[in-house]
Amino acid sequence: MGYTILRSPATGREPPHWDAKGLIDSRCGTLAGVTDFQALLDAAAVDPRSPAWNKIWTQSCHQDTCDPASAVLLPWLARTCAAFPAEDREKALVLAGFIAVDADANSRTLHADDIAMLRALTLDTLATGTASDEMFVYLLQAVLGFEGDETWGKELDHLNDGEVDVQCPACDEELLIELESQDSPVEPGLSSPLAARLHSTAVQAGRASVATGLTYLFGRVTCTSCGATFPLADHLAGHAL
Ligand SMILES: [Zn+2]
Repeated sequence: MGYTILRSPATGREPPHWDAKGLIDSRCGTLAGVTDFQALLDAAAVDPRSPAWNKIWTQSCHQDTCDPASAVLLPWLARTCAAFPAEDREKALVLAGFIAVDADANSRTLHADDIAMLRALTLDTLATGTASDEMFVYLLQAVLGFEGDETWGKELDHLNDGEVDVQCPACDEELLIELESQDSPVEPGLSSPLAARLHSTAVQAGRASVATGLTYLFGRVTCTSCGATFPLADHLAGHAL
């Protein structure tokens, strides 16, 4: 092992603390937690379907945010994903994408080679064609996470939900927009170079449904409250874009 990942026991509902330097946490210093987490990593590394992956996931990410200290996992994730066959590394790559997008700038620089490798592995997996459409979207989102896109590295999976919250820039009304429904208030389009790139990737991969969904996510919405029109993707609720 080139390094050891340690964590202190979780306290209450607080996210577990990971010692980014790989040093024993002097406040607790319990080796039991260390051994437990290393055992999880060891179990996960030899079996892409191990339940250990879920535990690693829940200890790394909480709701929509990953602990920035989880960035210490990126080298391990890169090595582990590289050793798995393309069809078995999907979930690990998605986790890595979430970790990368929430890593701080220093960690992203420190782990730049690992992030580049993870991005290449994800593109490779996207090209194999074995992923479901839903997983294709998650993997596409992971690519953006590796690229440091703090919005679409986390928000692209609205495509899988089929709906998205937006805030009308004219009347401030929050609208829940159903993508692709029969009476969707969205006029399909590709409102940015990124939208065009994602659409092109989906088309080239033969993902017609994902490609169509992207035209709604990056389309133009008419506010059902005041009638103003605006690019949906620029006004996701709760996000200053
Ligand atoms: Zn409005």
